Amino acid sequence: MQPTKLSSSGSPRGVQLVRALVRALHPYVPGEQPKIKGLIKLNTNENPYPPSPRVLRVVKTAVDGRLRRYPNPAADRLREKLAQHHHCAPENIIVGNGSDELLALAVRAFVEPSPSAKTPKGKLARATVQYFTPSYSLYPVLAEMHGATTNAVPLESDFSLPGRAQLKRHKQWDFNAALTLVTTPNAPSGRGYATKELEALCVAQRGVVVLDEAYADFADANALPLALKFPHVLVARTFSKAYSLCFQRIGYFVGPMELIAALHKIRDSYNVNGLGQIAAETTLDDLAYYRANFRRIIATRIWLTGELTKLGFRVLPSETNFVLVQPARFPARDWLAKLGGQKILVRWFSAPELRNYLRITVGSQGEARALVAAVRQLLLG
Ligand SMILES: *Cc1c(COP(=O)(O)O)cnc(C)c1O
Repeated sequence: MQPTKLSSSGSPRGVQLVRALVRALHPYVPGEQPKIKGLIKLNTNENPYPPSPRVLRVVKTAVDGRLRRYPNPAADRLREKLAQHHHCAPENIIVGNGSDELLALAVRAFVEPSPSAKTPKGKLARATVQYFTPSYSLYPVLAEMHGATTNAVPLESDFSLPGRAQLKRHKQWDFNAALTLVTTPNAPSGRGYATKELEALCVAQRGVVVLDEAYADFADANALPLALKFPHVLVARTFSKAYSLCFQRIGYFVGPMELIAALHKIRDSYNVNGLGQIAAETTLDDLAYYRANFRRIIATRIWLTGELTKLGFRVLPSETNFVLVQPARFPARDWLAKLGGQKILVRWFSAPELRNYLRITVGSQGEARALVAAVRQLLLG
């Protein structure tokens, strides 16, 4: 996305009207969505394959006079279908305008906006949002805009989860944090976590834990059973990445009724658009189509990992639809520009722990081939 033009007049009065917290806020930086003909877009982990023909048909058919009506306020039909799919009740599910919306609601529902005094030892740290770094870079923004305290704790250097003993030893981890957000499999590292280690982490936490499983369909395992087992665990899923529906903005949480009910209380009355609800419902009727795409993307991921490794790149093992790589010969940031010159867009993060890496969406087999060909050529040139 092009940076939003924030001001045309530069009026100091206008600036003063904005809350100090908002003035100081560092907004989330989404991956670019440039409109360049022939661009190979491997920067935002979108699915290379379109929604199923059935989903496209049903959305097109729904575009008529009904657009004047409000959609179902709680996405009831979609929640019923999701409940069947996950073997739980509709009361265990809330649908959002993307899982991003639900992550924001979780911060508002479970975290106090300002740290009152220092939390007495052993008490729930009501104003703390906790997460590992690197993980989804939206988390600190959501915490900051709420006026909460952030506790960002580094993963191990190979991006694995520190064990409980390790977390205790390092002292920075807060077992009493009001809200802990865990991206699993992780982004942008691509690393998958075993359900057993996630369960151990959940058991150790006293506050709410959200397991953000945006990429679970590309992984060997998922932790959904934990959301139906514990009173304080939520699992976040999205139709964006695996189900080719980024444009429609549909995500959901699965979890215990009490937490889900709290989120329903504070959501917008019609938070999920009608065409998105229809698209997601039909997606669940057509899962064979999507599962074939998961297999294709995973096969391409394995192929791409092998080819880039042969060319001297260090490719981290991935259970997602992207790979994090340490490129050969040139600094990662130069690769971003060099590949851009060949109309291939990948993602580079300036954070110190990530600046030597590129994150590359797997894409179609054809896109991955084009990437490998461009890398080979740039290494020779
Ligand atoms: C893409 C992504 C999301 C956002 O998904 P939406 O449903 O499109 O809002 C959430 N978490 C992670 C880790 C993601 O990569």
